[in-house]
Amino acid sequence: MGLEEYRQKRKFSKTPEPAGEASSGEGNRFVVQKHQASHLHYDFRLEMKGVLKSWAVPKGVPEAPGVRRLAVQTEDHPVEYIDFEGTIPEGEYGAGTVEIWDRGTFRLGRESTKELEFYLQGQKLSGAYVLVHTDGKNWLLIRRKGKP
Ligand code: MN
Repeated sequence: MGLEEYRQKRKFSKTPEPAGEASSGEGNRFVVQKHQASHLHYDFRLEMKGVLKSWAVPKGVPEAPGVRRLAVQTEDHPVEYIDFEGTIPEGEYGAGTVEIWDRGTFRLGRESTKELEFYLQGQKLSGAYVLVHTDGKNWLLIRRKGKP
């Protein structure tokens, strides 16, 4: 996906968000950012292939095994975004406040075009998860019944 869509949506003279660069690094960090925009949601991001693969999760990342939540894929974000907290000004894309709700590392499990399995180890979240592609930008984020 790259960062073109991310950059097109933002005016970096107005927003405090990083313009960023795609990196070649193969990191294994994740972040959940609580984003109080026009609608409260949680942005779940996995560091993969030099960017942050991103999903907006309206009801938050599930903590209890067996719980599934809608996760809408959004544009790739630059790796630097993993540390971003702040206020996006009124009138700008995503206007509102962003705060880090959880962060940590993950280990990838099976990966296919339909499913992405991973294990999270964060401050709040830990355990086995799977993202299942349903249609278009829609995925289900499921907390599996398994140990990391
Ligand atoms: Mn958001």
